[in-house]
Amino acid sequence: ARVLVTGANGFIAAHVIQQLLRAEYHVLGTVRSMAKANLVLKAHGNHPSLSVSVVEDITDAQAYIDAIESSASTDRSISAILHLAAPFSYSLTNFENELLLPAVKGTEAILDIARHFQDRGLRLVVHTNSFACIYNASAGPCPEKTYTSADWSPLTYEDGAKAPNAPRAYRAAKTVAEKKAWAYMKTHAADLRFGLVSLCPAMVFGPFVDGMWPSSPAALNESNKIVWDVVRQGESGIVPPTKAAVWVDVRDVARAHVLALSSEAAVGQRLLLGQVYCNQEIADEAREVCTKYRSRIPMGEPGRRDAARHFRVDASQDANILGLMWTPLRDCLKDLLPQLYRIEGHV
Ligand code: NDP
Repeated sequence: ARVLVTGANGFIAAHVIQQLLRAEYHVLGTVRSMAKANLVLKAHGNHPSLSVSVVEDITDAQAYIDAIESSASTDRSISAILHLAAPFSYSLTNFENELLLPAVKGTEAILDIARHFQDRGLRLVVHTNSFACIYNASAGPCPEKTYTSADWSPLTYEDGAKAPNAPRAYRAAKTVAEKKAWAYMKTHAADLRFGLVSLCPAMVFGPFVDGMWPSSPAALNESNKIVWDVVRQGESGIVPPTKAAVWVDVRDVARAHVLALSSEAAVGQRLLLGQVYCNQEIADEAREVCTKYRSRIPMGEPGRRDAARHFRVDASQDANILGLMWTPLRDCLKDLLPQLYRIEGHV
């Protein structure tokens, strides 16, 4: 049976779909417009195991059900859902309508459709959550703290709706959506025959799937923007202060989604995906692996690391559960940087 991937045109979803197809899964993607559907189909070479349907409203369970039941495949069901669609943008201004409601109501809709299809073989929902659901930004750098998947962000729906800035509203939206998912599983436990896996990636860096490149640096996704803001400063420029201290390679995140589909050990688990880094480390590694663009990359204070000045994370158990190895920052930058400079037009 097929796997449903929501937000199929997203940065991470493009890698998820690529890896699913390579692993011989059948995939039904959902996007918000026909133009995006065509883009996704083309990016994956019109693969015969991929179809893409339009679901305009992420919170409309019936629209998903219609998409699944009416899609071109003879298979009118799905065996698992990978729920990646959620707003991740710091330029949204109506936090409740644009960040909280799609994340929270979108999660409820996904669990409703999982329930709808459980009699036809649906067994798993993989919910793409975030390190934002884990860490407590208000607690500050906390050098003595090691975050694990046992930690929870304290943010509430009200914190998000009344947040003074979009990053806080985004963190609240992700936290509340994840809490909703676990609460749903508990409330309906007696009549559920599917499991939930929560994946909590840190800031996701890495290359774009061909055909899915953003049109300009301004259109970059929020997480790769962090790397771009370091590697465009010029050799004698300043290395910006590290804002998000934990990262993970997009291909590792995609692999985690694929592995979760067949991992019994992952069912019912919340898995943190990430390692600490700092912007000086990005600059140092970038200057090593991307010598062609060295004049664009700030030197800063080579070798300086922030690690002792802020929290750590321990995702080793999480990686073991899935059998994942973390891609080194260097390998990530080697593949991402040439794309970023080309996106800027410095071919
Ligand atoms: P993208 O912005 O590239 O993709 C987001 C996807 O969600 C797009 O398909 C987008 O569709 C869809 N989407 C956004 N808002 C809505 C909405 N209101 N209704 C319907 N669909 C919507 O982000 P990523 O690939 O980076 O993120 C994918 C998931 O991973 C998200 O859940 C995000 O929170 C999570 N995540 C990302 C991290 C990162 O660093 N990138 C870190 C941790 C978690 P459209 O193009 O139409 O807007």
